[in-house]
Amino acid sequence: MIEIVPNWHPIFVHFTVALLIIAAAIHLLSHFLPKGDAANQLTIVARWNLWFGVGFTLLTVAAGWYAYNTVAHDAPLHIAMNVHRNWAMATFALLLGIAGWEYYLSRHGSGKGWLFTGLLVIAAGLLLSTAWHGGELVYRYGLGVMSLPKPEGPGHTHEHGEEALHEDGHTHSHDDAAHDEHDAEPGHATSAAESAVAATKKARHTHPPGTPPHND
Ligand SMILES: [Zn+2]
Repeated sequence: MIEIVPNWHPIFVHFTVALLIIAAAIHLLSHFLPKGDAANQLTIVARWNLWFGVGFTLLTVAAGWYAYNTVAHDAPLHIAMNVHRNWAMATFALLLGIAGWEYYLSRHGSGKGWLFTGLLVIAAGLLLSTAWHGGELVYRYGLGVMSLPKPEGPGHTHEHGEEALHEDGHTHSHDDAAHDEHDAEPGHATSAAESAVAATKKARHTHPPGTPPHND
């Protein structure tokens, strides 16, 4: 299988977010249309988005649990990861209940009421909060990131394909074989960052006293 850095969780999670937010939005929209073909069609579209969304969510949660137990982190991240996990578990439980309700409605050909849609909108809100906390893990704390960019100052150029001048004075083109030579340079930022990451991965982090363990 191809290697995904750091794992599949960030891939599945986008399907979860998009499909379930769309399901909530379309269910909500259908309440404002007069009863008829259009409203019924919207309900069916929303229902299928919900099915696929919950299906992907099973994969997202499984991959997230794997990530939680494998990705290298420190004590501040440990706390932030637990917050993200708690939001995720509450959202997941509510979504499973809603999916069961949706199944019941479709089996009995019953129309949904505002209580159903209201709960789904709340679940969508919880989902957005979960997603925001997940984004914080990566973009604020750098969880699962292999190397961080080195700020280059005003001399940096975005003209890819032309000679770009690096901080240390060497040049290379972004679209030719110079990359091979570039990567092999000893002491270059990329390889330094990679060995730092490797070192971090080897060293098990220690938790401050009183921090709950992972498998709680
Ligand atoms: Zn930890």
